[in-house]
Amino acid sequence: MKMKWKVVCLLAVFILDVLCVKAMYDSYSDTKNTLFLPADAGAEAKDKVREQFSGSNQIALTFDDGPHSVYTQRLLDGLRKRGVHATFFLLGENIDGKEAIVKQMQADGHLIGNHGYSHVQMSKESVKTACEQIEENNQKIEKITGVRPQYLRPPYGSWNVELECTTNMSVVLWDVDPLDWKSKNTKKIVRHIVKHVEPGDIILLHDVYSTSVEAALEVIDTLSKQGYTFVTVDELMID
Ligand SMILES: [Zn+2]
Repeated sequence: MKMKWKVVCLLAVFILDVLCVKAMYDSYSDTKNTLFLPADAGAEAKDKVREQFSGSNQIALTFDDGPHSVYTQRLLDGLRKRGVHATFFLLGENIDGKEAIVKQMQADGHLIGNHGYSHVQMSKESVKTACEQIEENNQKIEKITGVRPQYLRPPYGSWNVELECTTNMSVVLWDVDPLDWKSKNTKKIVRHIVKHVEPGDIILLHDVYSTSVEAALEVIDTLSKQGYTFVTVDELMID
């Protein structure tokens, strides 16, 4: 009889344990979907979150290396006409004299991110240099817009977790790269994007070439007809 109760007790403890662990796991699973990932979370982790959260047909156009006095302006006009918001990763050294364009970006509802100051490959620089690149540009943008950028696209997508100075920023890479800077061919760029894009994707372009701007606007017209909607990177990541 004594032995029987021992077995019953042990079984009860075991079942309680299992229930406890399951409850803990469930609550972890619930919260992990709403966690904000730090910059050093890694591309894979970010990809997973983005996949979970991306709407069925949302994609994000992103533009690096600007602002450009002619082409960025042309792009902003085209985006406004189409009611589309995009994400701009600005290069610090290109901002001087184009403050009005940056203000326009903000007023039009686009997301402004940081692309470093002078396009150095940050993972090959010292942490100090990389941090200076990021900080100098953050300050420059904040001075114009009053908003400190939260999103960072390191030039060449070159990054490593040791660059701790930016843990408050989210690193944004991309899914579709039409190599627009290389071909400078509008038709080729459009074809590549339309062929490879999938819901939830981030598309990489550069608003410092007329061909890229023309391609971006054509892509919007084409993919809108296919049911895609265009959002900023922050909307894609948390929506
Ligand atoms: Zn770049």
